[in-house]
Amino acid sequence: MTQSMNKVVLVTGASSGIGEATVRELASAGAQLFIGARRGERLRALAVELGDRVAWRELDVTDGADFDAFADAAAERFGRIDVLVNNAGVMPLSPLAALKRDEWKRMIDVNIHGVLNGIAAVLPRFVAQRNGHVVNVASVGAHLVLPTAAVYCGTKYAVWAITEGLRQEHDEIRSTIISPGVTATELGDDISDPGVAAALKDWRQKSLTPDAIAHAIRYALEQPDGVDINEIIVRPTAAN
Ligand code: NDP
Repeated sequence: MTQSMNKVVLVTGASSGIGEATVRELASAGAQLFIGARRGERLRALAVELGDRVAWRELDVTDGADFDAFADAAAERFGRIDVLVNNAGVMPLSPLAALKRDEWKRMIDVNIHGVLNGIAAVLPRFVAQRNGHVVNVASVGAHLVLPTAAVYCGTKYAVWAITEGLRQEHDEIRSTIISPGVTATELGDDISDPGVAAALKDWRQKSLTPDAIAHAIRYALEQPDGVDINEIIVRPTAAN
């Protein structure tokens, strides 16, 4: 196993799915990781399993002050921050006519404000050190809209736009959009509409495993400083 990735990487949504797979992948590549999510017991178990190169702290990405404290704790633990992977996200799908305002708000809070809070927590540091890398996990839903996914896709179009704006404004900071297709994780397990939950189960028949997305993130991180992978779209071959 190559132990070559000399980077300090922050990963949000590390308690399951793509975030957890990314932590495993980057730890095996030699990175030092500071990982966050709300379910601390899962983070603790992952850190214990992977050893000293992984540290954790509970994090609610919707709370800007909490994200600032998370980044400060990471810098204190490892001495610097090289990469932020804004991965945390939620997907309670429903038709617009169901008027699930609370779920719309939750998607906007986590998927958009969470990403912005992450950028705010690291950007001054990255500007000062004239180096840094922000990886934002969007979705194929940043490129297409499906019934029941209007708000979710809206949040992912926003993630796409925010990441592209960051790229345009900062020559010395790398910005990467990771756009997964359907991936077998816990995402959508909280869908309250039974019809939509059944449809998601069908889509998941043809899904990627989370390590396919973790490999894409590792690829973006392993590029030399002057090379910026702007977006990677990863779909299962069976998707159309
Ligand atoms: P999971 O549900 O397995 O993981 C989501 C993660 O987000 C969990 O670790 C959860 O942790 C965390 N999270 C949710 N809300 C918050 C919050 N307020 N603060 C901090 N962390 C939070 O799903 P995935 O691994 O699939 O999702 C990861 C990303 O991939 C998301 O952005 C999703 O939109 C995107 N994506 C997923 C696809 C798929 O098919 N699975 C396809 C396209 C994109 P906790 O509950 O402990 O806080």
